[in-house]
This record gives sequence, C-alpha cells and structure tokens, in this order.
Amino acid sequence: MRFSNLFIPTTKNAPNDAVLPSHKLLIQAGFITQVGSGIYNFLPMGKIVLEKIRSIVKDELDKANCQEVQLGFVTPSELWKESGRFAKYGKELLRFKDRKENEFVLSPTAEEMMVDLVRNRVKSYKQLPLHLYQINTKFRDEARPRFGLLRGREFLMEDGYSFHDSYEDLDREFDLMQETYSKIFTRLGLDFRVVDADSGAIGGVGSREFMVLADNGEDDIVICDSCQNAANIEVAKRAKRVSPYDEEPQMQPGKFFTPDIKTIDSLAEFFMIEPYYLIKAVAKKAIYENGESEVVIFFLRGDDNLEETKALNSVEALEIEDVSENELKDLGVTPGFIGPDVKNVKVIIDNELKDKENLICGANEVDYHFVGYSLKDKFLDNFADLAEVREGDICPHCGGILSHTKGIEVGHIFKLGDRYSKPLKAEFLDKNGKSKPFIMGTYGIGVSRLVAVVIEQSHDDKGCIWTKESTPFALDIIVSNIKNEDELNFADKIYNKLLSMGKEVIIDDRKERFGFKMKDFELIGFPYALIVGKSLKEGKVEVVDRRTLEKTSIDSDKVLDYLKELI
Ligand code: ATP
Ligand code: MG
Repeated sequence: MRFSNLFIPTTKNAPNDAVLPSHKLLIQAGFITQVGSGIYNFLPMGKIVLEKIRSIVKDELDKANCQEVQLGFVTPSELWKESGRFAKYGKELLRFKDRKENEFVLSPTAEEMMVDLVRNRVKSYKQLPLHLYQINTKFRDEARPRFGLLRGREFLMEDGYSFHDSYEDLDREFDLMQETYSKIFTRLGLDFRVVDADSGAIGGVGSREFMVLADNGEDDIVICDSCQNAANIEVAKRAKRVSPYDEEPQMQPGKFFTPDIKTIDSLAEFFMIEPYYLIKAVAKKAIYENGESEVVIFFLRGDDNLEETKALNSVEALEIEDVSENELKDLGVTPGFIGPDVKNVKVIIDNELKDKENLICGANEVDYHFVGYSLKDKFLDNFADLAEVREGDICPHCGGILSHTKGIEVGHIFKLGDRYSKPLKAEFLDKNGKSKPFIMGTYGIGVSRLVAVVIEQSHDDKGCIWTKESTPFALDIIVSNIKNEDELNFADKIYNKLLSMGKEVIIDDRKERFGFKMKDFELIGFPYALIVGKSLKEGKVEVVDRRTLEKTSIDSDKVLDYLKELI
C-alpha cells in the first residue's frame, strides 16, 4: 500500500464526547468515523483491522470444527414470539414493519434464527454435535451507546450456536470453546481473564466471560491474589466472613429507643459497635416477566452492599428499580427502622446472616431498633447470596485475598440447555428413537469491539500501538524527502522486496515533511517504521519500534535481512 493513494483522513480533533483513548485515537488516526449515535463507518485502515480480527476468529473456530454460515439480519418477529423473547427483550430490540405491515426485528443475537435453521433439518443424534456460527452485523438499541466501538448500537459480532444430544457433550464443547476463545484473544495480544459470569434469570446452566483487563472497563471483576479464581462481581463468591472482634459480643435482647438514628454509621456510633453486627435494609421494587411488580426488602450486614444482579436473580425478576420512601410508608414500612420481621413486603436475607445471633436491626417502628436480634432457625426459605464481594474478602477456593479490577467483556460462552429448543420445538431422535429437544450452547465475540479493545490496552499519548496480529501493516517505510531520488529508489526497492515476500508493508511516499510523516506513524501505530533519510549517504537507515520509540541504526545493505526477521 502506498500512503499517497490511501484514504486516511487523520485529524487533530477528537470528538467532544470521546472520553476513552480508543474512541479518540481511532477517529483521529482515520480508522473510523461516526455516522450517528452508536453507528460507525470503517475507513480503509479500520476495515483492514476489522478483517484481520475477523479472520483470526474464523481461523480458530474452523480449526475447532465450527462451520460458518450467514443469517439474515432482518428477522421475522414470529420467531421471536415463538421463543417468548419478543415481549421480554425490551427496548434494545428494534422492531419495525414493512409495507405489507409484516413485523420484523433487527437481529441483536440469533438464537431463534439458528434454532429455526436447524429444526426439521437435523433429525437424528447421528447428525450431532453441530456448531454453526456467523460473523455478522447486530443491532441493539442500547440505552447509552458510548465509548465509540466499545458500546455501539450497530456492531459486528461472532455468534456461535452448538447443538448436542446430551449435557455431557455440551460440557465438552463449552470447554473447547473456552480454549478456542482464549487462543483468539491470546493471538490478538490481549491481557484477559476468563471469569465466572451471570447466567441471568431466564435460565442457562453455566456461563463464562472473557474480560480484557482495562482501567476504563465497564465491568467489575473480582480476582484472587493467589489462585486462578476470577469472577464477574455479579456472581463473585467469598468465604464466610469472620467477626472483626476476637470475641463475639453478647447482647441482652431488647428494644431500644434510637431517636432519628437511621443510617448504619449513626447506628454503629450510637451502640459503639462495628457495622458487621448491624442489619442493613435495602428496599427495591422488583419488576417481573408478567409485568407485575412488588416491593422487596433485602437485608445484609451493615458493612456489606447489595449486588443488584444477585438481588435480581434471588427474586427471579426481570428488572430491579429504586423505591421511594412514600411508597414504603404507604405499605406501612418505616424507612430507617426496617428489620427482617417487616410486614406486607417480600423479605430476602443475605446468606451471610443465616442462623446468626447478636445482631442489631430495625424494629419496624419509628425511632426503635432491636438489640440482640437472632436469625437462628428463622426465615429459612428467604436466604440468598446478595452481598457484593468486597476488596480484602477471602477467596472461597484457596483462602487468598480478593480484590477488584476493571474489565471489558470481549466474549461470552453460555450453556443454554433446552432454553430455546424446547419452546421452538426443535427436536431430534435419540438412540432409542425418542424425540428430545436439542441441548444447546451459545457463544459470542464482540469483533468490532475488539478493534477498540486492542487500542484501549495498547496506546500512549502519541497514538495507537497495534499488536502483531491486529496491525493493518507491520512496517511503515518513511521516505524522509521524496525529492531525493536515492532515498525514494532505495525505499521503493525495500518495499517491493518485502511485498514479494508476502510481508505487510506500507510506504509513506507523500510530499510531506518528515516530521509530519513521523507524527502520522506515531498516531496510526504501526509496530515498526523504517526511516530512509539523509544518513543513507553514509550507508545507514533507521528502524523505529513504535512501542518504545527507540531508534536502531542499521547498515542499509543489511536492512532487508533485518526486517525480514523483525516483521
Ligand atoms: P455487555 O454486557 O457489554 O452489554 P452483553 O453481555 O450484552 O454485553 P452478549 O450478548 O454476551 O453481550 O454479546 C456477546 C459479545 O458481543 C459481548 O461479549 C461483547 O463483546 C459484544 N457486544 C455486546 N454488546 C455490544 C455493543 N453494544 N457494542 C459492541 N459490542 C458488543
Ligand atoms: Mg455477555
């Protein structure tokens, strides 16, 4: 590729709403442009990167026996009604009608389409297992599209679907996909962790996410300092907590006048006790699949916080919202003084408090708290894991110390079971001639998101730094002064030789100042540059490493061999 032919509108100006480096740099370096909220164009250089990532994904999946297909992006809504997701998916699902009033959706994911493709075509266990995938446009009308390619509305995703005759075979495929996805992210040069993830209230029997570690990530991950344990905070577990005191404080049970003492802090101060022994109440409104809703009060230790996804799953709700003090008062609930014996509302208590004694909690009466409260043998059906794992909590697997870190989700693998095959009546005949729904897995990679993720993890204040397998070109040959024929001829010769060896090189043959070309090299982020400049007269050229910006002087007659090895 010759720079002089290339459409690469680099710019000094970053969009006003661009807060993340990847968002700014990909636009400034001319990889992408924004069309509308969450919708982007890929310019030639961006398209090369996107295709490279796509082909790594395809390469590894094909090696793992997956087969590529391409499904329609526009999907008849009937399929979504059959699975029950048409009503449930919410506003992220873009629905529309054609001129004949037929209803469609733009595919945000393709379980229904894939099940429809396979049902009545795969009829026997002899045709299983089968793994079909596509790398195709998706549309999700995200509430807050932002961060450029990281959270778009239109984006490119690899979505795979596997079909099995047993859960054992699904487990085998799930492990194979964990390995395959790990290979993909490793080839892209990413620092990632595989974490346990939420399977959602709608079912599924196991799920893991691939998280690239990045300070700007939207996901919170809990990791252990001494074993491989890593989990999304939404599902992270910890060992049972221990008392901050050497000895358990003994309390005489009773009701205490606690005028206007409503917060955990003021209560801890009032009773001169660690919040560990206080019971905190968090009131929420749970919204269910059938449209109904109710107030639920979650109880935790005073120094724990409610993890909302855990709360959601504990009541199998679709969503969880805040609830106002007035709504609580209308139900006869006394905010600031709520205890587990509260009436008229659903109560869920964190597992941590099961059978615990010597606690302090609201007496469900304004200005009163119970002291010496006991949960022994009480509320046995109302316990769930609700608390967010805190930094410093203990790893349940090895006793190590847990800490929080940020991640960007780049992939997700999910055991579906018969969640879709059952309602969509996609069945096969097993060995005994019995009809059974397929056991399924689903797998996804954010292909366009990965373009941004590579840069989020690999950039500096000058620009992008592409990794070996993601870079659009491995080497940028910069002709310092194209009016100097020797320089131009030498650079051209190297360029053509490398091209003939199948190397990915670009030559900056533009009529621009050297400094300008160097700035573009730094902004665009090719891993190496070869500078052909004045020192060519002395038989020397320079190779620049983009990551360190170190320059190495090389004899011009040896540089071809040097570069052959390098790139
Ligand atoms: P997130 O939690 O980030 O919203 P998700 O869990 O909804 O993602 P999945 O349904 O698991 O996403 O989709 C598979 C992959 O597609 C994700 O791991 C992610 O890499 C990518 N992806 C999801 N939503 C977007 C988006 N809005 N823009 C770009 N990529 C996305
Ligand atoms: Mg996900």
